[in-house]
Formats: sequence, structure tokens, C-alpha cells
Amino acid sequence: MVSSIIRNQEEIAKFAIGVDLGGTKIGAALVNNHGDIKEYIKNPTHAQQGKDVVIDRIKETINQLINQSGVNVDNISGIGIGVPGQLDARIGIVYSAPNLPGWKEVPICRIIKESFQMPVTLENDANAAAWGEKIFGVGQGIREMVCLTLGTGIGGGLIFNGKIYHGNKFAAGEVGHIIVNKDGPHCNCGGVGCLETYSSATGIRDRIYDRIKKLNKNNSGSISKSDIDNISLSDIFKRARQGDPLVKDIVEDAIEYLGVGITILVNLLNPEMVVLVGGIANEGDKLLLPVKKYVFSRAMKIVLEDLQIVLGKLKGQAGVLGAAALLWHSDK
Ligand SMILES: [Zn+2]
Repeated sequence: MVSSIIRNQEEIAKFAIGVDLGGTKIGAALVNNHGDIKEYIKNPTHAQQGKDVVIDRIKETINQLINQSGVNVDNISGIGIGVPGQLDARIGIVYSAPNLPGWKEVPICRIIKESFQMPVTLENDANAAAWGEKIFGVGQGIREMVCLTLGTGIGGGLIFNGKIYHGNKFAAGEVGHIIVNKDGPHCNCGGVGCLETYSSATGIRDRIYDRIKKLNKNNSGSISKSDIDNISLSDIFKRARQGDPLVKDIVEDAIEYLGVGITILVNLLNPEMVVLVGGIANEGDKLLLPVKKYVFSRAMKIVLEDLQIVLGKLKGQAGVLGAAALLWHSDK
């Protein structure tokens, strides 16, 4: 009886809040230490209204989450925040975030801690997603893991020896900026031919738009960039499979260059597992199988031994779950 009461008390005390800050939405979840989401909410970020508004939005979202859940704050271990930008998690400062105007040197951990009086920890959003898959998802028990977030851009999280690898300036894991073609398209990072320019949603759409512009050079204005942005990625992949010449080779390139990028990563890092998450990973086996075929035909034999290339299983919740899990398992 006594031991079951103690166990229950331990259980109750092990909630954490995970916040996934995005350019358009703030997701927040109250999570227990088994990775069960007790409460989840999503609010608009209002990023264009500037840093202070976004910080207020984060605080409101956390407050709303706590109130809706009905959990006593004493039973919450702390708050983990995933941010899409460059940051130093050791000191809790966000240096810059391209989709969050005005975010320069923001001491976000201190600011949130002052409001909620509980531990606050910070991580790059792609690292948080990787951590979510490692702790609660497909990577449980895996010590050497590479996670690629295939969305608007391409992010990455590297887990070595069971810990997130941050690099000297906390900038490790930028797998989207591996150069896969020295003569390729210009990239937002200032480089040329980065993986992201071929295999991200933005890269695929930009290439389709460029092609249409070239085809219609005497008839400009017939289609706008937003027309392309409104076509879903699954539609683009579907049209490619049906042989639509406008998109077929662009989607084939997206898949093949992803294979090139992953081959570079596995040759360099020799992980046990490569995990694909994000919107493009929703293509499932239609993406996974040709990527695996490429990697398994090109990488060194030794690194292919026992290598798993898999889809993540937390889907859109990897970010909040990983951010929450930072409270219990983070070791910076
Ligand atoms: Zn780049």
C-alpha cells in the first residue's frame, strides 16, 4: 500500500510541458514521463507582430495549457522549448530565428522562467524532434541516430552516444545544407546546391515555379508563386508518379538527392538508425523505399551493416514530446 502511494506520487510529479515554437503556430503539450500527452493546444504565433508579441503568445499558450489540463503546477517538472533558429541551449539564448522577425539574442529561458517559476530548457526544433523520436518514438534504445526533418526546409538532429550532438557553436546537424550539387540552385544559407534546394517542400516548389516561368517566358504572369504554394506536396508527388512531365523529374531529383545526402551522412557518421520525419515523410514508403534503395546501393558496406532507415512514428507531435523530454533526459 505504502509503496503504491509512493509510486503514485512519483508518477504525478512527472509531467513536463513541451513547446514547439514555429513561424506560424505554437504547439504545446503537457506530457507524462511515458510520453503520453495529457493536453495539447495549438495557437497562431503572430510572428510578424514581433518578438514581444510572440513571447506573450508563448506565455498565454502555456497558461492555457496548464489551466485546461487541471494539473497542479507543483506536479510539473518544467518547460522545454523547441525554437527554429540558432541558439545556445547551455545559456538559454536564441541568437536568431529566420521565421521569427526581431529574435536577436533573446534570453528566452530566463524570460519564461520568471513567469512560471519552474526550470526551463531550450533546444533547436529539429534537435527537439530528434530527441522526441529517441525518447518516445522509433529511436528508443538507439544510441547513434540521425534524424532528418523534411518540411519547408530540411533540419537535422544528431544523437551520438545517446545524447544530442551540438557542435562547437551549437550549430551541428544542419543536414539541409549539405552540398549535393556544386552547380545547383542558390540556397537561403548563402550556399549553392544544398540538399534543401532539392528535397525540401520549398525547394521542390521553387524548382517547379522556375520551370513554369521558363516555359511561359513570353506569357509571364500566367501563374504566380502562390499558385504553386497552394498545391499540396502530396498532390505534387502524386502527379509525379502519374508521369506529369512538369514535376516528374523534379520529384525524382528530390528523392535521389535525399539519398545522396543520407549516403554522405551514413558514410560519415555510421549511425544505427536514420529517421525521416516532417511533412514530406508523410509520403511513407513511396519516399522511404527509393531512398533506401539509393543508400543501400551507394554507401560503404560496413556502414550499411545493421543500418535502419525508417519513418518517425510521432508525426506532428515529435517536437512537443521531444521538448518536454528535455526536462528529464537532457544532458548538455
Ligand atoms: Zn544551404
